[in-house]
Amino acid sequence: MQEKNSKLQAPLSVLNGVGPALAEKLGKLDLYRVEDLLFLLPLRYEDRTTVTPLGALRPGIRSMVSGEVLLAETVYRGRRSLLVRIGDGTGQVTLRYFYFSRQQQAQFQPGTRVSAYGDVRPGPIGLEIVHPEYRILREEQAAVTEDSLTPVYPATEGVQQGRIRNLVGQALAIMLKAPPVELLPDETREKYRMPSLTEALTYLHQPPKDADLKQMSFGKHPCQQRLAFEELLAHYLSLRNLRLLARSESAIALTGGQDPVDSFINELPFRLTAAQRRVVDEISADLATPHPMMRLIQGDVGSGKTVVAAIAALRAISCGVQAAMMAPTELLAEQHWQSFRDWFADRDIKLAWLSGSQRQKQRRESLALIDSGDAGLIVGTHALFQEGVTFDSLALVIIDEQHRFGVHQRMALRDKGITQARHPHQLVMTATPIPRTLAMAAYADLDTSIIDELPPGRKPVQTVALPETRRDEVVGRVRRACAEGQQAYWVCPLIEESDVLDYQAAEAAHAMLTEAIPELTVGLVHGRMKAATKDKIMRSFKDGDISVLVATTVIEVGVDVPNASLMIIENAERMGLSQLHQLRGRVGRGAVQSHCVLLYRQPLGEHAKSRLSVLRETNDGFVVAQRDLELRGPGELLGTRQTGLPQYRVADLIRDAELMPKVQLAAESVRRESPQLADAIIRRWTGDSGRYGKV
Ligand code: ADP
Ligand code: MG
Repeated sequence: MQEKNSKLQAPLSVLNGVGPALAEKLGKLDLYRVEDLLFLLPLRYEDRTTVTPLGALRPGIRSMVSGEVLLAETVYRGRRSLLVRIGDGTGQVTLRYFYFSRQQQAQFQPGTRVSAYGDVRPGPIGLEIVHPEYRILREEQAAVTEDSLTPVYPATEGVQQGRIRNLVGQALAIMLKAPPVELLPDETREKYRMPSLTEALTYLHQPPKDADLKQMSFGKHPCQQRLAFEELLAHYLSLRNLRLLARSESAIALTGGQDPVDSFINELPFRLTAAQRRVVDEISADLATPHPMMRLIQGDVGSGKTVVAAIAALRAISCGVQAAMMAPTELLAEQHWQSFRDWFADRDIKLAWLSGSQRQKQRRESLALIDSGDAGLIVGTHALFQEGVTFDSLALVIIDEQHRFGVHQRMALRDKGITQARHPHQLVMTATPIPRTLAMAAYADLDTSIIDELPPGRKPVQTVALPETRRDEVVGRVRRACAEGQQAYWVCPLIEESDVLDYQAAEAAHAMLTEAIPELTVGLVHGRMKAATKDKIMRSFKDGDISVLVATTVIEVGVDVPNASLMIIENAERMGLSQLHQLRGRVGRGAVQSHCVLLYRQPLGEHAKSRLSVLRETNDGFVVAQRDLELRGPGELLGTRQTGLPQYRVADLIRDAELMPKVQLAAESVRRESPQLADAIIRRWTGDSGRYGKV
């Protein structure tokens, strides 16, 4: 179903007044075709439909006024300004200009009638309007009011609002003569009583006088929701395409390996939780099919995702193929490396290590093991999918903390495993559980498994928030806990993305604690250290040789030291809830009651206060994520821009998340109708290149 309407698809140069220079400026705003203008929705609206009598003006409200010039004078008070006093019999107002030409000044002769539009504010001599748009009126001419509300478009550098309005007007005229194809199935539109595309676009660009501006400012008007719906649908369909594509691809069916897997599970020092067993089964079923698995495991920190990954890897290796596990940081990758080495110690499995910082000689050795197929399990960082790495038979790709990687990186590693048209299975894991509706939008290309149970015996971490003025008390608490043989983390957050400050803050905290608690060993890890040094310190902490570990957020994900029972976080008010929850998840893994202290700098605003209280109230990562989402937005929750989440034109994932279940249903009916329809929807919203879906 090609869009038949060639006029809407035509370049902007077909519009009056668009020459090469303007076309270029518009191109910078991602506006190329006539249709693009239609989807450039106003940010807000101004009401120029009625003239407010001057006596009825109220400060803080943008108003349209008209009256007769009573007095115009240039004054110098700090800065030169032109004051034009107008009256209409009911009252007076001053128009104040800082930038004006002699010619303009001459226009405002006493007795001249003008109309003006702008923000009304209190001034030194009654109400004034600073730099209003204005018009000189001819005798007897009434102020020109508009029939509909005036749209204000998003910042359009170098292109004036008036110009944009004019172009959008032309685009609307073209649209009305030859309406665009309605792509939403009738069934869907009727069910949810949605306006047609043409109706929605016309309404939003030229809302009638009585439009509910409040509802529109929240993006909740049916016309806005209808467009958001179609956009979410487009992105959803595009991700589902990826999923369907994977179903049509072939992979090695990993059906064997049951005995080694069973004995591995039986020999573990703990029993798998019911949730872990369920997820292991889901993975096994996927791996046994001749199509690539694309599965996401969501599980709160400490829910035991690593061992589930190990079981999947063991199954692959037992079937005679390779598995690779990629982690976002060296520290994490190293920790997996150690876990796997311990778990697989008695088995005939060769492991290979690959990271950016390793020595050339070591790297060459690893590459040879990977290339020859001698290595069954390969563990590492981003280095895994870089050039020069060739796998012999990569059939399973495991990605930890997937929110730290983009779709592209995931696909790059997957591409490494494509041989003879066979694709590797993919398992991605995240400890940032996201609400179901958001997951529908973000991970529509993946099947999801949830580990919704913590290993038994874990006591929920108790959390308090304290002002940093009570730091001494907290130090005393650390001292007492460590005297009893426990261990503590002391975390200093990233300061304004600056590596240097970050490290200085951690150093200062380290010095403070070393001085305050001389009888304890206080260690320090931060992002600027060499991996080997970091590793050594982490290991001493793990072995109990270090009691208090001062760290920057490098320890954020994955580090596992069960004896640590105290987590102190400085400047907690600056961190995201999910990040704080991750950090808190480092403790509460052993038998003793663990505590988390959130130190904050005063004064703490209402917003920050309610954020911190979320952590005091719940230990459930899903609840934290939901609140984080409401308070911050999906970009931050998922790791800014790395998610591969598209930039939406109309939709807002938080505001419109509740549409997702309906979007999912609509996607089914679109697919039932025709695949071409799905393509047309994707093309309309994601561009010809399928900006997102194609990787
Ligand atoms: P995460 O899901 O945050 O990656 P890990 O895989 O690091 O969690 O597991 C956290 C800790 O829990 C590890 O020490 C791991 O060995 C342990 N663990 C995992 N599963 C269980 C279980 N079923 N019973 C007890 N301990 C477990
Ligand atoms: Mg983990």
